[in-house]
Amino acid sequence: MRLQGKVCIITGAASGIGRAASLLFAKEGAVVCACDVSQQALDKLVEEAKDLPGSIDPYVLDVTNREQVFKTVDEIANKYGKIDVLVNNAGITRDALLVKMSEQDWNAVINVNLTGVFNMTQAVAPHMMKTQKGSIINTSSVVGIYGNIGQTNYAATKGGVIAMTKTWAKELARKGAQIRVNAVAPGFIRTPMTEKVPEKVIEAVLSRTPLARMGEPEEVAYVYLFLASDESSYITGQVIGVDGGLTF
Ligand code: NAD
Repeated sequence: MRLQGKVCIITGAASGIGRAASLLFAKEGAVVCACDVSQQALDKLVEEAKDLPGSIDPYVLDVTNREQVFKTVDEIANKYGKIDVLVNNAGITRDALLVKMSEQDWNAVINVNLTGVFNMTQAVAPHMMKTQKGSIINTSSVVGIYGNIGQTNYAATKGGVIAMTKTWAKELARKGAQIRVNAVAPGFIRTPMTEKVPEKVIEAVLSRTPLARMGEPEEVAYVYLFLASDESSYITGQVIGVDGGLTF
């Protein structure tokens, strides 16, 4: 098994890509500390994973709540003695054209997608520095590289995630530490986040996508798995597109 014994924190673990990753990581032997805002969705995830070789340890956690983030991360580190992997997967959208975007929607997306990633990584990094190793996986988006109409807030956070990834890849690898930081940039993936996207927008994106279909959450989860495992031990500071060829 590719993650046997590894302690992995996944945020936004109860839906879409995070759910697929939690199940895949547990299938590969990981202890998955599954963090999400929804207790009910976490309960469902635990039930789904009950026969897998690894385990799901659920935590109701809002990544924007710094106090709760630091408390939960310390609790996990004390319980398991280490943290091997952090997947910063939680994310939201609040789309509107620039001239119509409310300050509230700007702040909501910045808080979850950018400050949430900062909070989680700041809480986890000292534990990885103690063991001098670890893998941090940040979820960006093709939108963070190329922009998208109606997604000023989202694009700003996903571009910011790439900048933080590259900064942390340099900063956390000092003094010989084998702490790796990479980002995954999904294209159009079939999850609850995209289920209300109008058909004509989907068609427009797919017409520019060589593989001409939406991606499945598992297809992103497998890239998280590779980056979480020791198979990617010489990869850091990278942004890996999982987008059916949309951006090459
Ligand atoms: P999703 O809506 O299915 O799942 C997101 C999860 O994050 C939910 O379980 C939600 O409860 C959780 N969450 C939201 N706010 C949170 C908070 N404050 N604290 C903790 N958890 C919180 O979305 P998804 O499509 O699976 O997205 C996962 C990640 O992938 C996001 O970062 C998203 O931006 C990114 N992404 C998705 C796509 C896509 O097409 N679906 C494309 C590119 C990037």
